[in-house]
Amino acid sequence: MRLVLLGPPGAGKGTQARMLGERIHAPQIASGDLLREAVRDSTPLGVKARSYMDKGSLVPDELVLKLINSRLDQPDAKPGWILDGFPRSVPQAEALAGMLQQRGETISKVVAINVPDDELVKRISGRRTCRNCNEMYQVSFDPPAKPGLCNKCGGELYQREDDHEDTVRHRLQVYNNETRPLLDYYGKAGLLSEVDGIGRPEEILNRILAKIGESGSAKAAS
Ligand code: AMP
Repeated sequence: MRLVLLGPPGAGKGTQARMLGERIHAPQIASGDLLREAVRDSTPLGVKARSYMDKGSLVPDELVLKLINSRLDQPDAKPGWILDGFPRSVPQAEALAGMLQQRGETISKVVAINVPDDELVKRISGRRTCRNCNEMYQVSFDPPAKPGLCNKCGGELYQREDDHEDTVRHRLQVYNNETRPLLDYYGKAGLLSEVDGIGRPEEILNRILAKIGESGSAKAAS
């Protein structure tokens, strides 16, 4: 299964990609995580990407495409993957199509997660991320068991520079200008399904599973 998850920042793509990945045994490939790792490791690519990311702007395509291309080459990505945060524009989608054509692969399905803007701003400005494993928490409705520490690995939680409210608004604008046209692009290609992104993570996972023909379903937490 080769899936693309679309949606504005804060729609829950990362959470869903992780849950789906466990469910369908495919790696989550998150361009934002790959970029943050490059920044953390101060690689030449990370150094170039950082200022764009801190502002909430898109990192130039040449950098992102390089990261994605080499990630798709790794053995665990051969049988399938879940792309989260990439592509983010029509030119990136066209570049992805070229990369897949070279590999003799095709996208199975594109799922867009819809959430209204006000809800997104609320969600993201309360978001905390693990420095070590990228797991995410929400201070109001999904806090960690021990304040400031990741439940999974004990890593330190921090607020991403680009999760502050003014930057979030800019990221939403970037989404509307650059990424939203992909709904039309993949809609015309007959690949797009849309799901409502409001609800508990397990409920949203079930909506996605139904769209990709993998029902059988995650248990909704009570
Ligand atoms: P995310 O974790 O997906 O919200 O991404 C965080 C930041 O990384 C974005 O605001 C961009 O600066 C950068 N980024 C992530 N994915 C891409 C992409 N596909 N193209 C360009 N920039 C990206």
